[in-house]
Amino acid sequence: MKPFTVRLNLHGDLDFFLRSGASGRSIERGLNEKTSVKDVIESCGVPHPEVDLILVNERAVGFDYGLQHTTDVDVYPVQAQPTYFKEDRLQVQRWQRFIVDGHLGKLARNLRLVGFDVAYDCHAQDQELLQVMIRENRALLTRDRRLLMHSIVRHGYCPRSQHADAQTIEVVRRFGLFDSIAPFTRCLRCNALLEKVAKGDVIEKLEPLTKIYYEQFRRCSCCGQIYWAGSHYSKLQKRLAAIRAVFNG
Ligand SMILES: [Zn+2]
Repeated sequence: MKPFTVRLNLHGDLDFFLRSGASGRSIERGLNEKTSVKDVIESCGVPHPEVDLILVNERAVGFDYGLQHTTDVDVYPVQAQPTYFKEDRLQVQRWQRFIVDGHLGKLARNLRLVGFDVAYDCHAQDQELLQVMIRENRALLTRDRRLLMHSIVRHGYCPRSQHADAQTIEVVRRFGLFDSIAPFTRCLRCNALLEKVAKGDVIEKLEPLTKIYYEQFRRCSCCGQIYWAGSHYSKLQKRLAAIRAVFNG
């Protein structure tokens, strides 16, 4: 086969994934055998769960499309779509179940704080993460691009920011979660749902000041942890205000 050149044009914020040294949003790859468009995109550092639309010579294609001639490929993330090609998107727009890798503990906690179902185990190895992801049909949140490129990953996202609050906002935005935020409904320790309990039922376990100042309590239906609208809650209010400001702004 005659050698040919594929030029990838990365749209939206996908240039985030370009290896250092690359400049601009276009990269050229020389090839000498038929190669799937997915492999070419990932060889440039962009994991497939981040790719929502691929246009080859202005025609929408799937990940397994084989490239064999000199071609221009336009690659779009979920957030930066042209308004046409609505039926050709490769990713789900909304998802509510997640698995978070061991380095993103604060993100896991934040997402539970606003009510989302998040599997998290700081000791889990990559293989275990992927197994739970498949078994429980969860979207993978990780900053490990290699892991996100694993062929069995169907839904996933790489938070761009290194800061948990900004990451939380990114995830809420990427997966269309803003309307589903339900603060103070899920256990931060074990992810189970909280249930309302009467003060009298938990009073023996409370610290003296908590007994005096708080009236409303919730208890984890799994591990028994007790929650009240104290420090957890005021921090949560601040984070929610920050999230709302982003979405309203
Ligand atoms: Zn719990």
